[in-house]
Amino acid sequence: MAKTKRRQKRRTKGDAGFCRIVYYSGMHVLQLHFQSTGDERRALLEVPSEEMLAWLHARGQAPLRARQMRRWLLAGRATSFEQMSDLPKRLRDELAAAFRPLGSEIARHLISRDNTHKLLLRLHDGQMIECVLLQEANRRTVCISTQVGCGMGCVFCASGIGGFVRNLTAGEILEQLIHARNLLPAEERLTHIVVMGMGEPLANLDALLEALAEATSPQGLGISARHVTISTVGLPAKIRRLADLRKQYHLAVSLHAPNEELRSRIVPTNDKTGLAAILEAADYFYAMTGRQVTYEYVLLRDLNDQPAHAAQLAKLLRGRQAHINLIPFNDVEGLPYRRPTQQALTDFVAILRSARLSVKVRKRKGADIDAACGQLRRAELTTDYPK
Ligand code: SAH
Repeated sequence: MAKTKRRQKRRTKGDAGFCRIVYYSGMHVLQLHFQSTGDERRALLEVPSEEMLAWLHARGQAPLRARQMRRWLLAGRATSFEQMSDLPKRLRDELAAAFRPLGSEIARHLISRDNTHKLLLRLHDGQMIECVLLQEANRRTVCISTQVGCGMGCVFCASGIGGFVRNLTAGEILEQLIHARNLLPAEERLTHIVVMGMGEPLANLDALLEALAEATSPQGLGISARHVTISTVGLPAKIRRLADLRKQYHLAVSLHAPNEELRSRIVPTNDKTGLAAILEAADYFYAMTGRQVTYEYVLLRDLNDQPAHAAQLAKLLRGRQAHINLIPFNDVEGLPYRRPTQQALTDFVAILRSARLSVKVRKRKGADIDAACGQLRRAELTTDYPK
C-alpha cells in the first residue's frame, strides 16, 4: 500500500497550456514538459455531428458532405482536406481554416525487427499516448490506449507510474486506429483490436464504446466485433454494463493472483472490488454474450508464479468457461519485479493443464522497440505454448 500512496503523490496534472509526461530512467524520474500544439482548430472526429451539419448548412453545403469527410478519414486514408477530392475546392479551404482532419500527430514511429510498429502520438494538448501495430500471418492487430496514464496503480505496470492524467475522447481512440491502419499497404486492412494499451478501458467506457462502434461498422473500419478484445483490471459494475449491451466483444480480465490477499498487493484496486464480485460479473458477461472470458495472469518471479499459486488458480477457475492467458512479466525500468524462470513457467502451465484448463502463454512481440520506449509494454501476441 505504501507503494501506491507514493505513486499517487507523483500523479501528474496538466497545467494550463503545459502537460507533463513522466518517464522512468533507472530510479530517476525525469519530467518532460510538453506544450500544447497551439493549433486551436478542432479535429474532425471531435466535432459533434449536429454541429458539423449546422456548419455545413451555414455555407450552403449538403449534409452528405459530413459523411464524405468521415469516409475519407476512415476508408480513404486522407490526412488532409486537400486529399478529399470530391469536395469542392472552396469547401476544402474553408474546412482547413476551421478544423484539422486529425487531432493527433505521430511524434515517434518505431519499427521492430519482427515488423511491430509502435507509434507515439502527440494529442492536441501535448499529451502523449502510444499505440502498437502487430503483424502476424494474416492478422493486423492494433493495441490501443483509452487514457493518458492510468489510475489503477497495478504495481508492475509502466502505464500507472505517472498516475492518471485524463480520459481520451472517442475521436482520440479512433485516431489511433486510423494512424495504425494508414501504415498498412493499400490492399491490407486492420483485422483485430486489443484494448490493452495505456489506461483502464472500463473507466472510460462511453468513449471506448463510441470509438468501437465506428471501428466495427461496415461504414467505418469494418473490423469484426468478435475480433475486439477489451482488457480490464476488473470493474464489476462496468463489466455488467458491457454484458447488458450484448456486443460480441471479447472480455479479458486481469486477474494476476489466485487469492484476495495477494491480488490486493499486486492490483491495489482489488481492495475495493474483491475477487468474488469480479468473477461473478465475468460469469454474467459469459451468460449474456456467450463469449468465453479470458483471465490474464502476469507472472512475477517468486511473487505469484509458484506451484501453489497455480493450484489455487486452477481451483478458483474450475468449472468456468475460462481461458487463461499467462504473461511473463516484461521488464519495466525502475521496478523491482522479474520474469519467472523457464522452469517455473513450465510447471505453472502443467498444473493448470492438468486441471483441464485452457492456457496460453503470451509471446513477446516488438521486444527491441519496447526497450527503446518506456511506457507501453504491451506489444505482444498470444500464441500456443510451447511453440
Ligand atoms: N487496464 C487494463 C489494460 C491494461 S494492459 C487491464 O488492467 O487489463 C493489458 C494487460 O497487460 C493487463 O493484463 C496488464 O496487467 C498487463 N501488463 C501491464 N504491464 C505489464 C508488464 N510490465 N508485463 C506484463 N504484462 C503487463
